[in-house]
Amino acid sequence: MAGVTLRNLTKAFKNVIAVKNVNLEIHDKEFLVLVGPSGCGKTTALRMIAGLEEVTEGEIYIGDRLVNDVSPKDRDIAMVFQNYALYPHMTVYENMAFGLKLRRTLKPGKSPVAAALLGWLVPRAFYDFIPKDEIRRRVEATSKMLGLDGRLNRKPKELSGGERQRVALGRAIVREPKVFLMDEPLSNLDAKLRVQTRAELIKLHRRLGITTIYVTHDQVEAMTMGDRIAVMNDGVIQQVDTPLNLYNHPANRFVAGFIGSPAMNFVDALVEPRDGGLYFKADGFSVKAPSEKADALAPYTGKHVVLGIRPEDIFDKTMCPIAVTPDNTVEAVVDVIEPMGDRSHLSLRVGGTSLIANVDAETSAQEDSKLPVVFDMSKSHAFDKDTDRAIY
Ligand code: ATP
Repeated sequence: MAGVTLRNLTKAFKNVIAVKNVNLEIHDKEFLVLVGPSGCGKTTALRMIAGLEEVTEGEIYIGDRLVNDVSPKDRDIAMVFQNYALYPHMTVYENMAFGLKLRRTLKPGKSPVAAALLGWLVPRAFYDFIPKDEIRRRVEATSKMLGLDGRLNRKPKELSGGERQRVALGRAIVREPKVFLMDEPLSNLDAKLRVQTRAELIKLHRRLGITTIYVTHDQVEAMTMGDRIAVMNDGVIQQVDTPLNLYNHPANRFVAGFIGSPAMNFVDALVEPRDGGLYFKADGFSVKAPSEKADALAPYTGKHVVLGIRPEDIFDKTMCPIAVTPDNTVEAVVDVIEPMGDRSHLSLRVGGTSLIANVDAETSAQEDSKLPVVFDMSKSHAFDKDTDRAIY
């Protein structure tokens, strides 16, 4: 087993800098999710770790070994891609065994030059191969673990999408790598199978304990799977932390808006001192900042900031679990109600401000009617308007 360290990693394609000076330490046995919007550089970062993309600047270590100049096959990694092309003419068994059959190591005492010249003619004179029994043992054990033991003689076209996906995983597992690299491996599956396979992957990781770097653009996948999550935007790592810390303490506005669904509401507001406290004065309403955050907010008195409040921290006043005061209550107008089953998403308007609330489905809200709502200000966030960094 091994951790992975990225130091000042940069990748430039002609005029595009896809990855900018990334520093990241992925611990041994950790499941780290690299998440970000399309084009933010996550696949490029993963491909550099795999050795499929040359590094422009910086260093990649697998364990203690600098691997910048090590070929992909010698990095002791296994990759699972979104398009997990299986060989259509091979059975499940053959697909899983294929990579192992090809794997060879130079026999002790043999010259690499001679092997390169003559190895294609008499490979067994120069290389050791994995014994057939060992290949069978690994494929059988892995297929059993993945629930594929009854499918070993089938061809890929005779499998469901989820089963094919598991064969691709199995093909990676039998290699017994030090590190798994996964690039959106679930995105070809339908919604139900995705959730199921997500859970299977988590269980598998707990069982095998292999360091895993998992790329996705889906924040739900990131939140549910990652021991830690690295949020990336525009080639730059924005924050690395546990899922809950990212949700509760986003370091900047990008992370705050990316993690959580529906996304956090952002409201332009003036920080105003009143009655010994600080208030956020926005278009159409005013709410009081939590007193324990007053120190952090004080330097912004008289200035505009961005108030952040998550939809799930806005309540219908008639069914509100927190104390209702004039300082946290806002008179809104309901534009649209989207019933989600146990919850409803409300599109609200307050003066010139638009907000989304995620409330209990039993809400008394009616479209085109007024609805007093309550902000749980203890869960609020504030961001610097110029730098987008979190003030609290
Ligand atoms: P997605 O989720 O859409 O796959 P991503 O976050 O994985 O996106 P990358 O594929 O890493 O993003 O791409 C990062 C940036 O680098 C993009 O602007 C992309 O257009 C650019 N890029 C990627 N590969 C190349 C290439 N071979 N040549 C030029 N530019 C490239």
